[in-house]
Amino acid sequence: MKKIVFATNNAHKLEELRQIVGDRYQVLSLSDINCHDDIPETADTLEGNARIKAEYVLQKYGYDCFSDDTGLEIDALGGEPGVMSARYAGVAHDSERNIDKVLRLLAGVPIEKRTARFRTVIAFAQREEDGKEFSIKYFEGKVEGRIFTERHGTGGFGYDSVFQPVEGDGSTFAQMPPEQKNAISHRGRAVAALMTFLRTQP
Ligand code: IMP
Repeated sequence: MKKIVFATNNAHKLEELRQIVGDRYQVLSLSDINCHDDIPETADTLEGNARIKAEYVLQKYGYDCFSDDTGLEIDALGGEPGVMSARYAGVAHDSERNIDKVLRLLAGVPIEKRTARFRTVIAFAQREEDGKEFSIKYFEGKVEGRIFTERHGTGGFGYDSVFQPVEGDGSTFAQMPPEQKNAISHRGRAVAALMTFLRTQP
């Protein structure tokens, strides 16, 4: 089975991804390849950050690699938190504080104006046939929805408990079984686009 690195150590994302990709590829995490480097995410776009990580792994470890970067874009906040989604409240990966900040900033905003979307960009860095050059391709996935006024559900991660996708039965992502979320999620869609591309590969 072909090995491919997903530049993450996020167990939730790896699990989601392995469910989507099935048994066509063996998806390795950064720790599976012994990469414990702190790869800086210094770009100011999702595309830029995704590219940095995928390129880094390919160049240093030699594996074809994809990397995703996701942002929650809330219209009433001018597209924030966007590229800052992981560290919106100042502390990286503190989802509870990030959600608190979003709910505070949206206080008083009526439900019809609480429109938002998750957007995922995947950068795929792939060694060319000659073994020297490499190419970068981008794949995008989006899901439209709204930000609830309070948390609902306990599944998922990140902002899932306050995000209600437009497609669905009114549940938040955190109230859905993983397969239901994967079928419509930003990351599921970006991965589907990546898979469509990979199927064209020898
Ligand atoms: P990352 O680029 O995938 O690390 O995502 C950045 C941040 O967006 C994460 O720290 C989460 O707060 C949020 N995020 C990404 N994907 C999801 C998701 O599927 N549900 C909820 N929040 C997410």
